[in-house]
Amino acid sequence: MRVRFFNPTRIVYGPGSLSQLPDQLPAGTPAEQILLISDAGLRRAGITQRAQELLPGAEVFEEVEPNPRHTTVDRAGGLARDLGARLVVGLGGGSVLDAAKAVALLASNPGSIEDYEGRERYTVPPLPVLAVPTTCGTGSEVTWVAVITHTGRRFKMSIKGPAMFPVAALVDPDLLASLPPALVASTGMDALVHAIEAYTVKPATFITDAFAVQAVRMSFLFLKRAWADIRNDHEARDGVMKSSLLAGLSFGNSDVGAVHCLSESVGALLDTPHGVANAVFLPFVMEFNLPAASGRYAELARAVGLEGGTPESLARRLIREIRELAGAIGIPEFQHLGIPEERFREIADKSFANNSNPSNVREASAEDYLGILERAQSESL
Ligand code: NAD
Repeated sequence: MRVRFFNPTRIVYGPGSLSQLPDQLPAGTPAEQILLISDAGLRRAGITQRAQELLPGAEVFEEVEPNPRHTTVDRAGGLARDLGARLVVGLGGGSVLDAAKAVALLASNPGSIEDYEGRERYTVPPLPVLAVPTTCGTGSEVTWVAVITHTGRRFKMSIKGPAMFPVAALVDPDLLASLPPALVASTGMDALVHAIEAYTVKPATFITDAFAVQAVRMSFLFLKRAWADIRNDHEARDGVMKSSLLAGLSFGNSDVGAVHCLSESVGALLDTPHGVANAVFLPFVMEFNLPAASGRYAELARAVGLEGGTPESLARRLIREIRELAGAIGIPEFQHLGIPEERFREIADKSFANNSNPSNVREASAEDYLGILERAQSESL
């Protein structure tokens, strides 16, 4: 089998690497043509101010909301056009980084972001993007996709293409120090889901496997510690940041699977935080996948130190460990997502229609998704 791996993003990793921001600007970029995209939480954490000190004169747009809306992206795109922007800096979690990628596209192409849903729909390459992640979840700093919620259709659109990889990712684990425990938990579990799905979906390769296994190891080693005290535990925040980055490198060249199909459908309908929805669905999807994936799950189980038994029993132990980890860091139960039962059918249909559904290791029909939702509900009643 022929294997390809592509990632053009220059990665600068390490505590304090935010200070490298000015060095990463393409030569001769005037400050007033830089658009810094961020959100209110980053300003409250004092992180936006630090970036502004490093980029004096840059224009700031900080109205991005979690699960970023297409209307917000269109507004920021208008600002980028008015500014004649030449560079977009995304400073934030996955929502901000995705918005930054989408704004960079709109800066050089006409219309609304909804016109660009799908793969490589732009005609002019987007502006260069510098990505600075501040959560330990999405890996968006090294992927080519922007996930933007269409508010009218209540659907998470994927907008992607080879020119949408950020030119550089400044990955600074110290930026996680202000992340509240609930966000460490949900975004950290998001990275674990990326790694597990990237390892088991059909397009996985030996290259993406290497990143995924290491990401799973780092999550198991450090997520609980990071949740307990990310502000003071340097080693743990370094570990969860690495897990997130490695998982992004993995699924960016592999794919995600049924967990994401469900969580994106739920997120678009109910605005559920992406990492929370992923974490809740992970064990149920793993159980569903067992007939096709017990061998792969057993390999991951061994990678995190579980031993003995058949592949099936090891895979089940991994699922139990994941449930325990999620419980220990306060991931809510399914019923706390507040998904009305009458929406199950719609969620199942949307999950089936998701672009990543064909990648899932076990074929999943709309009925199967309905079954997973019903199983999750019956367990949490
Ligand atoms: P987020 O970006 O939605 O941020 C959640 C909250 O965390 C925000 O209120 C933000 O202000 C706050 N926050 C972020 N960093 C902080 C910090 N250091 N200190 C204090 N508060 C901070 O969360 P996310 O989980 O990183 O991103 C989720 C989005 O990413 C979803 O829309 C999802 O679909 C998308 N996503 C994209 C990709 C991709 O490859 N493009 C992959 C997975 C998920």
